[in-house]
Amino acid sequence: MTGPRLLQTADPGAAYRESAGEILAAIRRVLESGHYILGAEVEAFEREFAAYLGAAEVVGVASGTDALELALRAAGIKAGDRVITVANTATATVAAIELAGARPVFVDVDARTLTMDPAALARRLEDRRDPAVKAVMPVHLYGQPADLPAIMEITRRHGLAVIEDCAQAHGAICHGRRVGTFGAAAAFSFYPTKNLGAIGDGGAVATNDPRLAAQIRLLRQYGWRQRYVSEVPGKNSRLDELQAAILRVKLTRLDADNGRRRTLAGEYLRRLAPARLELPPPAAGGEPVWHQFVVRTPAREALRTHLAGAGIQTSVLYPVPIHRQPAYRDGSLHLPVTERAGRELLCLPIHPALTADEVGTICQQILRWDSGRR
Ligand SMILES: *Cc1c(COP(=O)(O)O)cnc(C)c1O
Repeated sequence: MTGPRLLQTADPGAAYRESAGEILAAIRRVLESGHYILGAEVEAFEREFAAYLGAAEVVGVASGTDALELALRAAGIKAGDRVITVANTATATVAAIELAGARPVFVDVDARTLTMDPAALARRLEDRRDPAVKAVMPVHLYGQPADLPAIMEITRRHGLAVIEDCAQAHGAICHGRRVGTFGAAAAFSFYPTKNLGAIGDGGAVATNDPRLAAQIRLLRQYGWRQRYVSEVPGKNSRLDELQAAILRVKLTRLDADNGRRRTLAGEYLRRLAPARLELPPPAAGGEPVWHQFVVRTPAREALRTHLAGAGIQTSVLYPVPIHRQPAYRDGSLHLPVTERAGRELLCLPIHPALTADEVGTICQQILRWDSGRR
């Protein structure tokens, strides 16, 4: 095949090839160990990822959705409770709240970062005293840290637990600390396209509270402390040894990979400055890890079509805010910033295997499109 390659939004295959020797050795080590569930690899990965984050404990589970659900359950959220979150997020955030038996309450996002607006959170808590509200789930969407200092201050005042959704923000820093270490607990996903991706499904909960970690260890395997004796009603949500061994290899590259993403984001910000597009904030009180690079324009569909014609793949995360989806529709709720973002945002390719030259090509195409509409 000849011609320029299609510029993809993510490339998990390239991430594998980058570490193929080490990943194959890790897989072989697990296969030959004869131990495939909850063994030495999971324990080692939990220790290593906790050390990386600066969290007391990490507990591996089967997915990011499960990590959110079990974090909520371990924090005491139960049927009838309400959890405040955002509607500009993956469906998984809200699915997890419902899996824990609770109901979501949506607040709007900040117009610059597109993460939870602390002022909207404070207003919702002050306008309507609602004793069923027990927790707040900010999402560090696109690798952008939410405004944790403000959110922690508000939730402390109202006595609410914070569970962070870190599925798109492995390694992001907020005021000198990694996200995932602020709330009572935090959930990570290792879906293959995430900044730290497995070769299949996987997830983890991070927490500084050893009792909460112990509770999640029970919940992830039928409520067992002792085998075959269920202390609490649990489920099956285990990270397997193969994925843990692969994640240990990937974790050693996470900072370098996030550094690549940061360099590419810097290229985009510099080259696209003259375009009539809304660009993401470079760093609002922290270091984003650029899971996505998101631009906004009312002419989103035209830009998307132009880029597709030039072999440049784009995506829209997310086109339909959760409160407008059939399963979760709340007709009376109006979230103007979230709704406008859903109409205008476009995710450009960004991943560690993309080159600065390729970002240059993408930017040229965007600038050409932009000058054509003057
Ligand atoms: C990917 C993702 C999840 C869910 O993770 P899974 O591992 O796919 O279950 C949750 N929240 C956000 C913001 C995500 O991007």
